[in-house]
Amino acid sequence: MADHIHKILIIGGGAAGLELATCLGQQLGKPGLAEITLLDAASTHIWKPLLHEVASGTLAEAEEIEYLAQAHRNHFRFLFGRMEGLNREAKQIIVSPITNKQGIELIPQRTFKYDTLVMSVGSVSNTFGINGVDRNCMFIDTTSQAYRFQKQLVETYYIQSYANQSHQRDKPLSIVIVGAGATGVELSAELHQVTKLLATYGLEGSIEVNITIIEAANQLLPALPPRLSQATQEQLVKLGINLKLGRRVTEVTETAVHTHDGEVFDADLKVWAAGIKAPDWMKNLDGLETNHINQLLVDQTLKTSDDNIFAIGDCAACEWVGHGGNVPPRAQAAHQQASTVAKTIVNRLKGKPAVPFVYHDYGSLVSLGKFSTVGSLMGSLMGTVSVGGFIAYVVYLSLYKMHQVAIHGYFRTAMLTLSNLFRRSAHAKIKMH
Ligand SMILES: Cc1cc2nc3c(=O)[nH]c(=O)nc-3n(C[C@H](O)[C@H](O)[C@H](O)COP(=O)(O)OP(=O)(O)OC[C@H]3O[C@@H](n4cnc5c(N)ncnc54)[C@H](O)[C@@H]3O)c2cc1C
Repeated sequence: MADHIHKILIIGGGAAGLELATCLGQQLGKPGLAEITLLDAASTHIWKPLLHEVASGTLAEAEEIEYLAQAHRNHFRFLFGRMEGLNREAKQIIVSPITNKQGIELIPQRTFKYDTLVMSVGSVSNTFGINGVDRNCMFIDTTSQAYRFQKQLVETYYIQSYANQSHQRDKPLSIVIVGAGATGVELSAELHQVTKLLATYGLEGSIEVNITIIEAANQLLPALPPRLSQATQEQLVKLGINLKLGRRVTEVTETAVHTHDGEVFDADLKVWAAGIKAPDWMKNLDGLETNHINQLLVDQTLKTSDDNIFAIGDCAACEWVGHGGNVPPRAQAAHQQASTVAKTIVNRLKGKPAVPFVYHDYGSLVSLGKFSTVGSLMGSLMGTVSVGGFIAYVVYLSLYKMHQVAIHGYFRTAMLTLSNLFRRSAHAKIKMH
């Protein structure tokens, strides 16, 4: 009988999980030292920080990666499905049945065994139980939500354009974004750019669009130094985006967003981007310890209280030693944690010790549309070096390039970048379908 081959199961192929599966596939899968399996609830991957571009329709479709093809090229197995539970005693995960749009079950509930399990399912928007948010707001947590938003945006633009032409409406189109973190700020700038492009393309019946950001804190981008938050604020004001800071949302209805001071903001489109949590089904997952936002508590080697289960990326709560609080839920943290846990798992198979995770904060960058980016670099290493404009734009792009290099290697990343440049010059800059 053949020896038992070590089964590594990775749940969630996002910024962290796909890099991990690719790395372990090459290092352990290719020489046959372990069986690597990646499970994801979607069949394709888009790097999450690009989702605001999907939502506004400015992203090239070429940025999407087919998990099956990636798995084939990198010696791991891909499974399509959504994890819904865990049985630690049997060392198996439980995957929901797959049904079609009519609710007919196509694949029944399944279970999959593991020797080592890595949870990397990311996060979802935290609605804090506020009345009407789930029902009336749009979210940009997943690729399908971002595409849904983009479709609704295009339809709304066409309807507004017709209403303007036929003098049925004289109010501007109103978009309210709740939350002034990177997601809300980047989306507002991207939507502003889309509106300008539509005017350039000459969409009949010119559309006036009012974009408003509502934020509970008194400054934008609380994670950035105040000087940069101020610079961002000035840029957004220049773009004509309305900023309502220090306003707590109390209710969202079909037509408006209400704040604690009694103001009512009429809104045709409402986007919720105020804070994150790990998915609710992860709360105390089969006895594993979780925090108030459902993240799995991990030690400095990214291991949970179960020796066979690790957690990385947004769904993990890992103390940021020496800084107070936890490692922030960012793409750079996901990238660094994937590299560390890959080394630990390789060591584990050789009977060597786990590798401790040390988070290096290389700063934060926020894209405000084409060639306008603000941020701080090298946060804790060099003190804050503030950057802006074109340099920041190039550094912002390099964060994505690092992710691409981790999953495609240098040569393919260079080819993809080139082909994308050609594609962008030949195609429309926004998607209108
Ligand atoms: C619009 C937007 C802009 C952002 N911009 C930035 C930025 O500029 N810089 C930055 O550092 N960070 C940014 N972030 C945050 C960054 O995207 C996340 O921190 C990062 O993606 C976390 O990586 P992850 O692997 O933990 O999760 P994700 O990348 O979210 O991946 C999670 C994966 O798990 C899968 N999954 C979820 N549930 C299940 C399940 N039950 N079963 C199977 N699979 C499942 C999902 O389909 C997904 O593929 C942004 C986020 C958003 C939404």
